[in-house]
Amino acid sequence: MRLDVISIFPDYLAPLDLSLIGKARRDGLVDLRVHDLRDFAHDRHRTVDDTPYGGGAGMVMSAQPWSEALTDVLGTADAPGERPVLIVPGPGGQPFDQAMARELSGRGWLAFACGRYEGIDERVYEWAAERMEVRVVSLGDYVLNGGEVAAMAMIEAVVRLLPGVVGNAESLVEESHEGGLLEYPLYTKPAEWDGRPVPEVLLSGDHARIERWRHQQRLERTAARRPDLLPRSGALGVDGLA
Ligand code: SAM
Repeated sequence: MRLDVISIFPDYLAPLDLSLIGKARRDGLVDLRVHDLRDFAHDRHRTVDDTPYGGGAGMVMSAQPWSEALTDVLGTADAPGERPVLIVPGPGGQPFDQAMARELSGRGWLAFACGRYEGIDERVYEWAAERMEVRVVSLGDYVLNGGEVAAMAMIEAVVRLLPGVVGNAESLVEESHEGGLLEYPLYTKPAEWDGRPVPEVLLSGDHARIERWRHQQRLERTAARRPDLLPRSGALGVDGLA
């Protein structure tokens, strides 16, 4: 998978060299290219923002460096005519979730446009949409200072779904938000810690019983913490939770 990230803080993306994502890069599973938006500004101060038309607080990122940076990315397509899906992180976007991560993991090329200040001139979205698929995507209902943390979170969620990135692919199947329910509680050795025993069923060796217990725990945990997920999970009415 190819990933391009455009930011005024390219160093922000350095953690993507670490851990499983870093290994995926070194193994050639991911081709991550980080671009400095200021390389596409042409004044002495490498300015990429200006005051908002209509007044108001803060600064707005100008269209010109964005169109040049995106043109540069498009110009390095690995195959003629190939286009990335452009993801613009923003609090006003479609909420990012596991289903979107899974869908994006099937796309060969993603580009991320990391905004700062009050955001990017609206005409950039129109310009980009004439050249590639554009999605505005929100990490959640809160406001960050910039799109870099959101891009990193999305990249991590997407890349770990690529074959070969997570050592044991089975560990992806039962995770929270796969199949709509949260994960069951986890325990490891010792069997008793701080006077607290591991649930007896997990030591029983009875796999069918363990499966039933885990499923029940997933339902109860989801009902307690995220009841909004239950209708989507198909659990209501099937396992006595309705
Ligand atoms: N003025 C914008 C608004 O009210 O919608 C917020 C701008 S925010 C201070 C600066 C940048 O942070 C945004 O352009 C976006 O790139 C990023 N950002 C902030 N919150 C985000 C969120 N919840 N999800 C994704 N990106 C976010």
